[in-house]
Amino acid sequence: MDYSNLNNLGGQVAAVTGGASGIGLEAARALAACGATLELIDFDAKALGKAAMSLRDQGATVETTVLDVTDPAAVAEAAASICGRNGGSVEILLNSAGIARLHSATDVADAEWRQVIEVNLNGSFWCCREFGRAMVAAGRGSVINMGSMSGNIVNAPQFASSYMVSKGGVHQLTRALAVEWAKTGVRVNALAPGYIGTEMTLKMRARPELFDKWLEMTPMGRCGTPEEVAAVIVFLASPASSYMTGSILAVDGGYTSL
Ligand code: NDP
Repeated sequence: MDYSNLNNLGGQVAAVTGGASGIGLEAARALAACGATLELIDFDAKALGKAAMSLRDQGATVETTVLDVTDPAAVAEAAASICGRNGGSVEILLNSAGIARLHSATDVADAEWRQVIEVNLNGSFWCCREFGRAMVAAGRGSVINMGSMSGNIVNAPQFASSYMVSKGGVHQLTRALAVEWAKTGVRVNALAPGYIGTEMTLKMRARPELFDKWLEMTPMGRCGTPEEVAAVIVFLASPASSYMTGSILAVDGGYTSL
């Protein structure tokens, strides 16, 4: 094994959902820095264009696709088009599209519950299925799902059962597909981040009763950064993790070790 070259993703194509913002955008930057070409996916065309421009300014090769991951027919069409222009498949799929809503079980509206499950769990599955089909046919690929520490534990005092259930589902989806595809050359892993400083957590950071408590309960005593998550995504995308599939990696400053 050439240990000095483990992060070299030259010649590989990475499809990144939720790529216009936060962890997805930073992971795209990191994957491109390691040599991957990018297929950036998000449902806000304006934000996607801006993100692609900033990545191109840094030397990345980027194609963009406006896509709502909750629409299985649109996901199938987008995956066919993206895989088609890249020789039949992509080598890396990062499912980073996600939303968080903080209502408690007794307050959550029907539509909000459905939307969180639709984006975080069903959206991840539609993308896994459509890109995964091409990866299985090609006999290679690394799928990386964004789970959460909230998929492993009940993250009190933030009672957001829709989010916790969706992320618990993502973890189990990851394990199920990892085993189903284990002999095909396609690996499936997930990250379970703690509190990361992105747009998604801005609202929570504005609520000291949640945020201060959370920091107190985090052994490292601080939020993680998108860069710290992106580095683990590169690891899961690269040959450095070639014997890993079905793993859910905690990136949480020690929170779930307590
Ligand atoms: P961001 O909100 O910064 O990024 C998520 C991106 O996904 C946004 O660009 C968003 O678009 C997009 N998106 C939302 N819904 C859809 C959809 N239906 N179709 C396509 N794209 C969509 O969040 P983060 O980067 O913080 O989160 C990335 C992932 O990491 C999520 O899955 C999240 O649950 C997970 N995570 C984040 C943690 C954190 O602390 N930040 C902790 C643990 C897990 P728009 O902005 O227009 O809504």
